[in-house]
Formats: sequence, C-alpha cells, structure tokens
Amino acid sequence: MLPFHPRPMRVALQASFAATLLAAIDSTGVAEPPRDASTASLACAATTVIVRSAEAGDAEDLCRGAAAATVFFRALGRSTDTPLALDVVEQLPLDVDRRAVGCFSRRNLRAYVLTYAAFGSRQTWLGLPVSRELYTSVGAHEVAHALTACTAAAHPLSVQATEYIASVVMFGTMHTPSRDAVLALYPEADFASDWDITDVAYGLDPVRFGVGAYRHFLREPDPASFLRSVLDGGVLGERFHY
Ligand SMILES: [Zn+2]
Repeated sequence: MLPFHPRPMRVALQASFAATLLAAIDSTGVAEPPRDASTASLACAATTVIVRSAEAGDAEDLCRGAAAATVFFRALGRSTDTPLALDVVEQLPLDVDRRAVGCFSRRNLRAYVLTYAAFGSRQTWLGLPVSRELYTSVGAHEVAHALTACTAAAHPLSVQATEYIASVVMFGTMHTPSRDAVLALYPEADFASDWDITDVAYGLDPVRFGVGAYRHFLREPDPASFLRSVLDGGVLGERFHY
C-alpha cells in the first residue's frame, strides 16, 4: 500500500517499498513503459529470470540480485520453473508512484526496474548513497516478489506478507556493511508481534517496515519455517479494518 495513495480498492498499486523504493503491482492494468530499441535479453545464470536491458552492466547487476533471491528461496525449499521477466526501463509503468525505483506485476510475472542512470539520479536509496551494490539489491527485492508469486501456496498474499518476504530477502542478501548502515538509520524499527506487521505499518514508512521485518525474522526461533508459513498464508494474512 502506498503511503501517498488512498487504500480503498486494492487496485493497481498494491504496494510500494517507500518513497524511493519498490512497488508490487496488482493484477489489474499495467501500462507498458517505453523500451529502448537496443534492448537485449540476458538469462541470469542458475535462475529462471530473464533481464531485458539496453545496458549490459545494468542487466549483470540485476542478475546478481536475481541469483541471490533465487538461492534464498531454494534454501527455503521453494523454487520454480516459471520464466520471470525483469525489464530495465527509463520510467516505471504510469500507475506506479514516481518515487519508486522498481515494481512487480503479478498479472504477467514481470518486474520493472529503473536503469542505473535513472536510479542514480535519485542520489540516495534506503537512506544510503546509491551504488551498483544497492542497485543489485533492487533486483533481489523485485525478484523476491516474483518468486513469492510463483511459490506461495495461498493467493493473493497480503501486502504485509509480500513486503515482509521481499524485505527479508533484500536485507538477507545485501552486503553486510550496507545492511548494517540501513539498520543503524532505524534503531527503533522492530515488530514485537506478528500482529504488528500490517499493511498500515508498511504504508506509514516502508523502509522502517522493511528493517522491522528483518529484525523480526532474525529473532524467530526458526526463521525459515516462519517464512514458509508466510508463503503458505498461515501467518501475516489479510487484515480487515473496521
Ligand atoms: Zn516490495
């Protein structure tokens, strides 16, 4: 759920990972962003992800993120043969918040990530100066959304469930110094209970939500088992606000 959009209909924009961040698009309309004529496809090794990009370096960075997310999911015992597309674009689809740097559409199992040039123009992401390494983490986050869509036993998962998983995968695969630096920016971010992990918390501050999710995950007695429960819809299910 976007912090800048009203909640009412669970329409096109299901979620966005904060002001600078990442979004998950729901099953309704996704306007295709313009694509450069020089776009080439790169099949990321040991994954089912195919990155389409005009810049080979961008594709290689995002493939590293895709591979890290795939390894993370395989360690949970979750994998897929489904081809997953990741398009590198100058602009995200029109219905995505302008502050996002990536998004994922469940409708066509397609992720979109800004070019590194466009990403770099934001100057900071997650509170850190942008870098190629952080750009790789954008790829890990979006591919985690794609792998969630392909391997979840329950559909659709809640906003809090999908963003919990994507955040845990992103921070879990991030280089340690960068992860520690982001966590240090949010010393109070945490969730004492599953019940505090809500779409509202995500909407209020997606980065704080992500850091809190990661700390909550680390504290679980069996973190992998908890993530499988999230994927199976056993925890972090849909909430209804009255
Ligand atoms: Zn996300």
